[in-house]
Amino acid sequence: MDLLGIVARKVLLLILPFLIAFILTVQFAPEFTYLSFLILAAGLYAFLKDMAEKIEFLCPKCGKTFRTSITAFFFSPHQTYWKLLRCPECNKVSWCIVKYYDGVELKAKVRKIKDKEISVKSLVIQLAFIASSYAIFLASWILVEAKDLVSLSSSTLLFVLLSSLFVYAIRQEYRSSIYYILTFFGVFAMLLFSFLQAVRSMVS
Ligand SMILES: [Zn+2]
Repeated sequence: MDLLGIVARKVLLLILPFLIAFILTVQFAPEFTYLSFLILAAGLYAFLKDMAEKIEFLCPKCGKTFRTSITAFFFSPHQTYWKLLRCPECNKVSWCIVKYYDGVELKAKVRKIKDKEISVKSLVIQLAFIASSYAIFLASWILVEAKDLVSLSSSTLLFVLLSSLFVYAIRQEYRSSIYYILTFFGVFAMLLFSFLQAVRSMVS
């Protein structure tokens, strides 16, 4: 069994029906658009719950296998066959490999992950960068005349998601350089939102 095949099947089974329901709602009953986001979130939750319950990870530090909570599964960074986790047996943080799905051992060609350790302080600084770029967005949103609710809600959602990922990482001491990518993406997206907003107000 291959993990990517399982994930593809699960997405079709658990997310696609919700996605179709979402599109139908937006298309035929726009007044229920916000409700349809709940439908989509329910599909995502069902997917995550299923994966968290069935996947067992192998800790490279102590060799024990373990399952995660749905919270840890959602908030921990993932790279194809690897997930950054704190092992419940030895309490050490490392990239743990996906070993079993529903009790069946997974076969996969895996390459060892090269990761540079960063400090917890660096995580805090990165979170501050994301918060600052969100503040810039908010300031630009307040200043421009044409207030766009879609860009406000999407950047707020992005900020809430990114900051909760960072708060989780800081609490778990996930000292991984993978967070630089998130910071880059977050700051870039927020500044892009602010820029587009400024351009739009100049045009109108
Ligand atoms: Zn361990």
